[in-house]
Amino acid sequence: MHAHAVTTPGAALLACMQRIAAAGLSQGSSGNASVRSANGFWITPTGMPPQRMHADDAVEIDPGGRVLAGTLRPSSEWPMHAAIYSARPDAQAIVHCHSRHATALACCGRDIPAFHYMVAVAGGDSIRCSPYALFGSQALAEHAVAALRERRACLLGNHGQIAIGDSLESALALAIEVEELAAQYGAALAIGEPRLLDGAQMREVIERFAGYGQPQRRDEP
Ligand SMILES: [Zn+2]
Repeated sequence: MHAHAVTTPGAALLACMQRIAAAGLSQGSSGNASVRSANGFWITPTGMPPQRMHADDAVEIDPGGRVLAGTLRPSSEWPMHAAIYSARPDAQAIVHCHSRHATALACCGRDIPAFHYMVAVAGGDSIRCSPYALFGSQALAEHAVAALRERRACLLGNHGQIAIGDSLESALALAIEVEELAAQYGAALAIGEPRLLDGAQMREVIERFAGYGQPQRRDEP
């Protein structure tokens, strides 16, 4: 599965941040990622661009933000990560970034509706946009949890996007997909009024996605 074996949470987070930068999903030190641990979670440090980050710069904190391991301060957005891990047992990893097209929609307060069947990769028939709240605030944490209800990704109003997954790999893949969908939706809006899929059409896609991404033998029904 993995291109290279990753031995520590810090190395995995570093690899993730480098891939976020390489995919053009973040500029400078915006964007952060975390992975759940036995006592809390490992998260990227605050104010550190990926090209300067080292694997041992990652910080492990408990759900209240107390540092368990590491010497740097955790990302200022740690309360949002903590709230999501608390509310979502299915979240093993979180990727947050200010990718251009997702952020542009979030600045207009626009949900991404079912304009394309791939919207279902986030778990439902829309990708919600949360209200705005100050970065690092408890209000933002609560908005993110609400917008992620029955979803694995959402837009954060006037801010960016966030994606969760059962691994850093899957959270990153979803963040990349959300950015592409946001770009496509923006382009469709520029042309005219996108034709939306209805509830039955999206339910059909969601059912089909239950086995999506799994290798399947050709002789299986
Ligand atoms: Zn942010």
